Parts: sequence; structure tokens; C-alpha cells
Amino acid sequence: MNENNKSITPSVTTPASHEEPDAQIDGSSGEDTNPDISAFSIVFTNAQLPANISGKIQQNILSNPFFILELTAILQSDPYLWILVDKERSLSGNYEPQDLVELNNGSYRINRDDLYLRNAAAASLEEMASAARAEGLVLTASSAYRSYSYQVQLYQRYVNEMGQNAADKISARPGHSQHQLGLVVDFGSIDDSFALTGESRWLTANASRFGWSLSYPQGYEGVTGYSWESWHYRYMGKALAAFIDNYFNGIQQYALRFIHEWIKLN
Ligand SMILES: [Zn+2]
Repeated sequence: MNENNKSITPSVTTPASHEEPDAQIDGSSGEDTNPDISAFSIVFTNAQLPANISGKIQQNILSNPFFILELTAILQSDPYLWILVDKERSLSGNYEPQDLVELNNGSYRINRDDLYLRNAAAASLEEMASAARAEGLVLTASSAYRSYSYQVQLYQRYVNEMGQNAADKISARPGHSQHQLGLVVDFGSIDDSFALTGESRWLTANASRFGWSLSYPQGYEGVTGYSWESWHYRYMGKALAAFIDNYFNGIQQYALRFIHEWIKLN
């Protein structure tokens, strides 16, 4: 693992500037009765947000200046914190984070050797696990970074075992795994029994305070494309995790889709 290169080159376009939406609207024709929002309607359409969420976001764009400030700050952070990696969008086959560090037993336990996370995620995991331990709970990291080549092997194994349709519900195609970001941890048993544990309940209540977000929540299979995974958390940083909670009802996929479409507009 190459651990000495601190900066990474994003494979996504980092927006150079983000104007206040009102400033952009000033130049519009004014023919529309609701020009503020019509300029962004394509974002809501393409992000496929449900009506309750897009209504809430539209309201915030119009009347909450902090929304744009928070969004701008997030977009100026490391793009890999908010890049959308899902069934449709993939990382390139040669993307490998340059600041991976090996996990060791600390406040959390590791289930096996050779677990790696990016530096910031590893530090945050330690902070979060320390808080859990203060409440008598020990988090266990069972899986973390997965290289592209490992994903190729893993996906093929599932396809061989259960066929492609079943494999696609539980395993990402190569390049489509959030694990390639080096920002994801699978906790505990990596199966549904994890949801019944105190550790899972603690993470549900507390993970976002430390910058972590459950990627595949229960009841959102149609949105994320994945079966519920109570154990799979992505490190987003505290600002983005709060943004997801405050404006997107805690649904990471909605927030990242919104950001994905928003940056196309700017
Ligand atoms: Zn996972």
C-alpha cells in the first residue's frame, strides 16, 4: 500500500465556484412565476428525490442561507467524501486511495488482519469506537478497503455460487463498491443478526455524530439498489453526515444523488 502520498487527484470534476442561487437567478428572464426553483428543477428530476424531500430542499434553497453555505463547504472538501458510487456510477479500475492505513486493535477490534482505511476514516473510527466503549460497547471492524482486483474476484465468486441476479443484490460489480473508497467499514457479523446487537443500535443512534452514514438502510432497497445492510457504514465527514440527517432524512443515497446533479449545474 502506498501510504506516503497525502494528496489525491479526484476523478470527478470539482466545481470551481458556487454562486448563491439568487445571484444566478438575477440574470433570468423572469417569465416563470417561480424562477428561483425552476432553475434547479432539473436537479430534483434527475436526482429522483421523493416529493417530501425535494419540497424540503426547495424550501431550504429559497429561505435558508445556511443550506447553500453548508453545501458549498461540503463541495470544497475531499470529493471522495461525496462522490456517488452506486449501481450506475463506478470508480475507475485504477483508483486506489493514497493514504490508506492499516487498522489495529484500538478502541475497536479487528476481525482479521489486512484491514485498511483512509487516514481520516481510521482516525474517526477510533474516535467513534472510543465513545462506544465509554458506554460499554466494543465495535468490531470486519471488512474495510477493497481493491478493484479484489472486487473482481469477490463478484465472480458470488456469480458462480448464486447466479448474476442474486449476486447483484448483495455484491457490487467491480468498481461499483463503496469499499474501494477506503472510507467504508462493515461491522460485526456482516449479516442481519448484527441489527439485533447493542453495537448496531448504538451506531444507528450515534454514527452520524462522528461523520458516518448507513449506506443501505432498511426499506430503501428500491432507492439504493441493495438489500438492507445494517453493518455497512460510509465515512462522509461530520459536515456531510449532518447535512444528510438535516435535509435528506438521513438517506445518504438521496443526498449524494442531489450533490451529483447539483454539481452538473454549477
Ligand atoms: Zn460493506
